[in-house]
Amino acid sequence: MSALSTDPIIAIATAPGRGGIGVVRVSGPDLLAWAQSLCGQALRARHAHYLPFRDGQGEVLDEGLALFFPGPHSYTGEDVLELQGHGGPAVLRRVLEDCLARGAAIGLRLAQPGEFTQRAFLNERLDLAQAEAVADLIEASSAAAARSAMASLSGVFSAEIDALSERIVQLRMLVEATLDFPEEEIDFLEKYQAADRLDAVTATLDGVLRTARQGLVLREGLHVVLAGQPNVGKSSLLNALAGEDVAIVTPIAGTTRDRVIQQIHIDGIPLHIVDTAGLRETEDTVERIGIERSWAEIARAQVILHLQDARHPDDPLDAEIVRRLPAGTPVLRVLNKVDLIGDHTAALGDPARVPAGVLASGGAGHAEVLRISAHTGAGLDALRARLLRIAGWTPGAESPWLARERHVRALEATREHLLLAREHASHSDQVLDLFAEELRLAHEALCEITGQFTSDDLLGEIFSRFCIGK
Ligand code: GDP
Repeated sequence: MSALSTDPIIAIATAPGRGGIGVVRVSGPDLLAWAQSLCGQALRARHAHYLPFRDGQGEVLDEGLALFFPGPHSYTGEDVLELQGHGGPAVLRRVLEDCLARGAAIGLRLAQPGEFTQRAFLNERLDLAQAEAVADLIEASSAAAARSAMASLSGVFSAEIDALSERIVQLRMLVEATLDFPEEEIDFLEKYQAADRLDAVTATLDGVLRTARQGLVLREGLHVVLAGQPNVGKSSLLNALAGEDVAIVTPIAGTTRDRVIQQIHIDGIPLHIVDTAGLRETEDTVERIGIERSWAEIARAQVILHLQDARHPDDPLDAEIVRRLPAGTPVLRVLNKVDLIGDHTAALGDPARVPAGVLASGGAGHAEVLRISAHTGAGLDALRARLLRIAGWTPGAESPWLARERHVRALEATREHLLLAREHASHSDQVLDLFAEELRLAHEALCEITGQFTSDDLLGEIFSRFCIGK
């Protein structure tokens, strides 16, 4: 997708399937004359016109509202026509195809995924972080994620970045000016308290980075694999963890029946849980394939819940499973069915007593044991809290915006360059041009977030992940 394309574009903007209303949207420069001829009447800016949608031969395809938004005061910044009709796939397709046929003369074509929002970005209706927030809002899977995406969309995150950027720019202006007068270089850092200013900017950046990391957790969640022998209660645990969220549990069809990813939420944090086929020795070829897939999932997990039956904690088959778990992945050993052995205390595994980052890895044995009952719910709160800590979520910390990996990386790069600049500032032979260069790099990394310095490749990648029609 060319970043500079201004061909008129069209797409069905509403979700595929049946709905009360379906919207076909067109964007392009100078669309008014075409839109009026399509609708067979004059269109007033931003007015809802109720009319029949007729094809070129005069047949009525649907009836509904036509809305015309003249650029630049539209979503894309170009002229936009919205046809709001009935939300059925066949009727929407007829309207779309008729528009395409009658738009051939003006070069109308189908929009690429995200192309409407990309135009909004290129026409400066949104910055890049806001444009990404549009997709994140659409994809938000919990109320918390939606609230945070909305905060990003309204520019809260961008405002923090702009404020930081402004402070770096001021420092850059001072240092660049001094570079032109070498005799002043020696006093520069002292005269303008450059080191103190730099420390203050870095401190603010650290705060933004902390919040962004929380926002990333909220967006990405945690990939959890439930592993264990058959019948230890993996499915029961999944249902119990889903708890009140069960209504929004979304099974994502796996490649086979034996691999199902479910998304549940704990405090609004998405957990992608892979319920694997029970691990055991088997002669059955089909089952063996399922089990091999389970091991492949385990290799990709961010955390492994190794579920065991509390009545047989020393089962040699579990020792065998432990031996095969990948090194380096946190493993929680969870003893289920404690109700059957009269243990309702779920005594071990109090998350408050286990510092983060000391989890056992596969192969090394389990350091952390939690006792639960998927049936009675005993121990589940401790397990939930433990999972949140592994995800890096600080309970009670409200993330005001949703962040992406890309944002966190850019903030980290900015921080790195600020620290290097600080190092140059504290050397006795202060090298002002190196100091200036690090500031420049810090500024550039920071501005990638809002899209001031962004390559076409990156833009293409970001917008191609949008849905069509957005
Ligand atoms: P999976 O094969 O590991 O997914 O195990 P299931 O979740 O299908 O459970 C196997 C059996 O154990 C079922 O009959 C469950 O009702 C039972 N079960 C699971 N969790 C518990 C528990 O905490 N307590 C008791 N008493 N039974 C449980």
